[in-house]
Amino acid sequence: MLVVMRDHASQSEIDHVVDLLTEAGAQAHLSQGEVKTIIGVIGERELIYSLDFEGLAGVEEVIRVLKPYKLVGRDFQPEDTVVRVGAHFVVGGGALAVIAGPCSVESEEQMVTVAKAVAAAGATMLRGGAYKPRTSPYAFQGMGEEGLKLLREAANEAGLPVVTEVLDVRDAEKVAEWADVLQVGARNMQNFMMLEELGSMAKPILLKRGLSATIAELLSAAEYILKGGNRDVMLCERGIRTFETYTRNTLDLAAVAALKQLTHLPVIVDPSHATGRRDLVAVMSRAGIVAGADGIMVEVHHDPEHAKCDGPQSLTPADFQELMRGVQPLVELSGKHMGWEE
Ligand code: PEP
Ligand code: MN
Repeated sequence: MLVVMRDHASQSEIDHVVDLLTEAGAQAHLSQGEVKTIIGVIGERELIYSLDFEGLAGVEEVIRVLKPYKLVGRDFQPEDTVVRVGAHFVVGGGALAVIAGPCSVESEEQMVTVAKAVAAAGATMLRGGAYKPRTSPYAFQGMGEEGLKLLREAANEAGLPVVTEVLDVRDAEKVAEWADVLQVGARNMQNFMMLEELGSMAKPILLKRGLSATIAELLSAAEYILKGGNRDVMLCERGIRTFETYTRNTLDLAAVAALKQLTHLPVIVDPSHATGRRDLVAVMSRAGIVAGADGIMVEVHHDPEHAKCDGPQSLTPADFQELMRGVQPLVELSGKHMGWEE
C-alpha cells in the first residue's frame, strides 16, 4: 500500500501516519521529496486491508497495491482447479460442463421430460430452481422443498447431477441434502454471511456474478468461500447491467477471458440470463466457449410458452439438441472434452 501525502504535508502529519502504521504492526518506508512524501507500507494482506488511512490529516490518497483476494488467484495456484460433481462429473482443467434445465421446477412431468431430453442431447448437469429470486413478490416464487424432490428424482432418472439455487442461507443445509451443486444467484453474490456458510460446506458452489459487480468483486466474493475451506467454486458470467435494453443483460465475454487469466477456478457462461432471448442463446454459448469458458448453463423447457419463469429465453429440447451440435466442434477445437469421467 502507498500512502501519498498532500503537497508540503507537515512533518508532524507524516510522523503521525508512520506512528499509526508502526503501532498496527506494518512497516513504513518513507520516500521524502521537496514537495511530496510517499509512504510505502509493507505488511500482511489482512493487516493492510484493515488500515483505513483516507481522511487522516495530510493524506491525499491511499493506493492499494495488493489484490484484495489471494486464494482464488493464479499466483496462489497456477494450475486450473478441477471441481468434481457427484460421482461421475468434472469441471475445469479441460473438462467442459453443460448445465441445462428449466428456470424453475414446475411439475414432475416437466422435470422428467426436460431431464431426459437434455441428458440425451449430452448435458452433464441438470439445473432447475426450487427457490426463485423474483423481482416482483407477486411472481411465482418456486415450489420449495417439493421442487427439490422433483428435481432430484428427475436427475436420478436421467443420470445427471443437480444444480440448484440457495436463495436464503437458512435453507443451505436443506438444499444440500438434495443437490450436488449449490448455486448462489446474482442477487446474493455479496451476501457475505451466505458465502461464509457455504465456505464451510462440502458441496461445490456455482457463484453467479452480481448484476453490477466488477470482476474484482466477483473474485473477492469467491475468496470468502475458499477462505472458509471450500475450494470447489465455479464462477458464472451471467450478463451485467448496461444501458442496452435489446438484450436482458450484456454478456461480458471479456470478463470470461480475464477471469481465466486471473483465477484458477472454472468459469461458466450463462447465455440465457445474459441475453434473455432464445435466438441468441446458441451463438453466445459458442462465443463463451471460444472465450475460454469451462462450461455453459442454458435454460431449457419442454413448453416455453407456458413456462412459469423465463419462457422467452428458454430453449426447446430440439433447440438444445441443435445447440449441442454447434458446440461439439468447438469443444474439440479448444482442446477440451466433455466433463464426464469414463
Ligand atoms: C437462475 O439461474 O435461475 C437465476 C435466477 O439467475 P441469476 O441469479 O443469474 O439471475
Ligand atoms: Mn431463469
